[in-house]
Amino acid sequence: MDTVNKKPNVVIIGAGPGGYTAAIRLGQLGMNPVVIEKEKVGGVCLNWGCIPTKTIYSTTEPLAKLDSWKKRGIEFNQPKISLSDVTKHQSKIANKLTDGVEKLIKSNGGTILYGKAEVTTGPKVIVKRIGKEEITLEPNNLIIASGSIPIELPEFVFSQDGIWDSKTAVMPPETPEKLVILGAGVIGLEMGTIYNRLGSEIKILEMQDSILPTLNLDKRIASYLNRSLKKSGIDIYTSTRAKELQTVEEKKMVIGEKDGKEVSIPADRVLVAVGRRPNLDFIDDQLGLEYNEGFIETDASCLTSIENVYAIGDIAGGPMLAHKASKEALIASSKITGEKITNYKVVPSAVFTDPEYAQVGMSERKARQNGYEPVIGRFPLRASGKAVAMDEATGAIKLVGDKDTDRLLGGSILGPHASDMIAELALSIETELTVTQIAETIHPHPTLSEAIMEAAENVHSRAIHTSNR
Ligand code: FAD
Repeated sequence: MDTVNKKPNVVIIGAGPGGYTAAIRLGQLGMNPVVIEKEKVGGVCLNWGCIPTKTIYSTTEPLAKLDSWKKRGIEFNQPKISLSDVTKHQSKIANKLTDGVEKLIKSNGGTILYGKAEVTTGPKVIVKRIGKEEITLEPNNLIIASGSIPIELPEFVFSQDGIWDSKTAVMPPETPEKLVILGAGVIGLEMGTIYNRLGSEIKILEMQDSILPTLNLDKRIASYLNRSLKKSGIDIYTSTRAKELQTVEEKKMVIGEKDGKEVSIPADRVLVAVGRRPNLDFIDDQLGLEYNEGFIETDASCLTSIENVYAIGDIAGGPMLAHKASKEALIASSKITGEKITNYKVVPSAVFTDPEYAQVGMSERKARQNGYEPVIGRFPLRASGKAVAMDEATGAIKLVGDKDTDRLLGGSILGPHASDMIAELALSIETELTVTQIAETIHPHPTLSEAIMEAAENVHSRAIHTSNR
């Protein structure tokens, strides 16, 4: 007997960080949501994205530090890498977390249906279940959280031998001797970092004239990061378009074009990391959703152009990040249950390179474009006692303040634990703190966080441990 409620309060399509967060929150609010998932609870983030990459990043971290330890008096034998154990460990962590999330959805009163959803007018949701009969649901509210899929290049299709997408790269059959990565965005640089540690020779081709083009890095910080990547052995070809893959006598060669000239780069494997596109193949055009550059158009409460139909996460555009998906899940849940919506001002970004990079809010240029008179504070990590003690003093902090109100508008951090430290800047912007308030807050010594305090002092030319030019 099938006990699924055919007219539930809420149906959620997709159990990634958008869908599962909505399911848990709506469950907490007594809505008994039904979540439909065609693959695995946790979505891209837990199974093939954030968590697998960060598990491998942290597993391989010691490999990047061997010279540093040796310099400091501790020498290890040459490490042996068992790739199959690295990936087994990665899968174990992902499974542990997805199991936990599945339990949380259920214990909060949610139901999970495994199968592919199709949406048609009504809205009606037809669920093609795995190993069970099809079922049609007519929910009062629908949340679409179907995420995104990697963009394929016609000259480098994923089914071709030797061409990888990011999913293959977190479950690699082998470590390629020569890995060519197409795209120096977040995923390209993170994968380059991991595989460089594992021993691959890394070449990255980027069509734009800088790394992380969508993040518009501060020039000085970008040059520190470029130098670090180069020093660690990652070669980046900017302003270079990958044109085709040639195979000559079983040897693969990526052919690209830079400044009108052809470049040929030997490759054992090619990882295509040129971006992601919305996953929409299951939505009937008759439904009448409106789109913006291919993504589902939504308002500030995540409501689409159709009453009671919401879209959250990657499918709704904006920065394709897990924490943006889960925040939108909370916003849509509040709207559905009539709670006050707490929207967000900024979405921090983090990139797990060596060293890490993170940013939030406005860049100096953006602040100027938006009519502010930006005031800048900088602090180099070579002046941070903790960073020097850790032998990880490559990097810097840059803060952008508003001259008029002294409020923090944005900031970027290059250095160890940048991805954790950026939360302080995000909180400061959300709560409209001034640069002076950050500077006047005691930050514990010796920690990396003191560098934020010093950068805030530097905005007013009062940093203690660096010259205030
Ligand atoms: P998804 O996580 O994509 O989940 C969508 C779910 O919907 C999937 O499980 C899918 O199977 C299901 N689905 C789709 N269509 C249907 C259907 N018709 N019926 C039923 N189910 C369906 N973000 C970060 O913030 N930090 C990181 O460090 C980070 N690292 C990343 C590394 C990699 C390699 C990749 C690829 C991505 C990374 N991201 C990271 C991005 C992050 O994974 C996404 O932003 C996030 O997963 C989006 O969440 P979502 O809920 O919108 O969609």
